Amino acid sequence: MPLAQPRDSTIAVIGDGFGSALVHTTAMYLGFRPEQVTVYGPADRPFATYQQFAFNLGQTVLRSESESHFLPADWPTFAQLDAWSRRSLAPLGRSIRRKYNPGVPDIMAELAAVQARLGWDANRYPHRIGWVQREEGPTPHFVLYDEEARYAGRAKHVMLAIGHGPLAFPPALAKARQDPALVDRIVQAYEPKQYAPGGRYIVIGAGIASVNEWANALDVGAKVLALLRNPVPDEQDLNTPRCLFESLGIDAFQGLSFDQRLEFLAKILKGTSPKRRAWADKVRRGRAEGRFDQLMGEIDQVEQGPAGLRVHISSQHGPDPGWLDVTGVVAGTGFAKSALTLPLLRRLVQHYQLPVEQGRIVLRSNCGVPGLDRPESRMCVTGIHANPVVPNGDTIAGLKYIARRFVSDVARAERLPRRSFASRMSTQLSLASASADAIRHVRHAEQLA
Ligand SMILES: Cc1cc2nc3c(=O)[nH]c(=O)nc-3n(C[C@H](O)[C@H](O)[C@H](O)COP(=O)(O)OP(=O)(O)OC[C@H]3O[C@@H](n4cnc5c(N)ncnc54)[C@H](O)[C@@H]3O)c2cc1C
Repeated sequence: MPLAQPRDSTIAVIGDGFGSALVHTTAMYLGFRPEQVTVYGPADRPFATYQQFAFNLGQTVLRSESESHFLPADWPTFAQLDAWSRRSLAPLGRSIRRKYNPGVPDIMAELAAVQARLGWDANRYPHRIGWVQREEGPTPHFVLYDEEARYAGRAKHVMLAIGHGPLAFPPALAKARQDPALVDRIVQAYEPKQYAPGGRYIVIGAGIASVNEWANALDVGAKVLALLRNPVPDEQDLNTPRCLFESLGIDAFQGLSFDQRLEFLAKILKGTSPKRRAWADKVRRGRAEGRFDQLMGEIDQVEQGPAGLRVHISSQHGPDPGWLDVTGVVAGTGFAKSALTLPLLRRLVQHYQLPVEQGRIVLRSNCGVPGLDRPESRMCVTGIHANPVVPNGDTIAGLKYIARRFVSDVARAERLPRRSFASRMSTQLSLASASADAIRHVRHAEQLA
């Protein structure tokens, strides 16, 4: 049961996702008492938000590898846990070859087991936070208010772990979605959707979310127009290896023919689910049947048309494709990265005049919020909004790194007595054992690498 009343705590974690779980786990591991850490947010499981997106995408294994998981210390790795749980050496063999990715159900089972033991939910105040006030007082601290401006508690240190902004759409599509006649035909890859057999769909992007949608549409007998703004996607999908889209990778990619690109994408995108393993063959077949094509350009106008939508596409890389009649548009354009798209961050930026560059809060190198963060009363940011400081801040590994730095700083500020190695080891082993038990009862997800 979550908390029924606001309370004072040493650490407030605003947000109820992966980032919150990692701050909470790290704090318990280093020796904070449960009542010293309060998590704020309505979700009763720290994977609820992620799970919905993963489901919509059809993700069955994580993109990240064996070190990315939810135990406070890194050892045992997830491959070791998996091997122990299922009494199999296969995960270890794969891990040595860097071909092991934790299954989505497995990682959620681990997180659920860890949080049940450490009491994440029992120390959660189930309200979204709308405002945080810096108080100087004799002891600097923060006062929290929920989105209805009701008092929600006080804390000496705050971690902002509120996750992504809304799903992002190119401007012309965002505008068209305001029209009730068009909105149902323009969706994000991370949203639920249905394709009509024989329909013609534009899919924007070529990251794994878009590739999934190519295959989904071709599977039901629809036609796909893959639309790229540039020769390679600049909307970076979460599951697209970041190195691919740096200059060297882009130059190499641009020199390839369509078939070579397809082969290359098939190699590096691996697939998120077994069903998607054969997507490159599906695309080749679709192309041969005249049901798959690729276009370079950007949608700049959308209106109602005989097939559902009429869209105008212009291109900086050749002649404009012009007007096209399509059944719908799917955007694999990910999440809005600007802090200003989230009301709580926008209010903090406006009120405390926080520095912002290209929509991102200019954080200190320890992820502290400038002007609000002090050594004796820290305010930090984790997740995607910490990416300019920690480039993988929105992955499990990055969230863990930020959580460790933050909780260690707070432990120093609070002069937390150091927990003995043996005591921490005992916590780690009991959490590992609970996780192994939980994983054993989950259906094994097929490895794709
Ligand atoms: C489909 C998908 C696949 C991914 N695959 C991988 C992978 O393979 N490996 C990897 O390492 N990472 C992966 N990630 C990335 C990353 O691990 C997740 O995005 C992670 O969930 C980010 O954690 P977070 O806590 O920052 O945000 P979230 O988990 O999104 O949690 C933020 C929570 O805060 C809540 N919130 C928002 N505003 C407030 C407020 N004002 N008050 C209280 N609560 C609020 C939100 O409702 C949300 O529940 C993937 C992400 C997605 C979407």
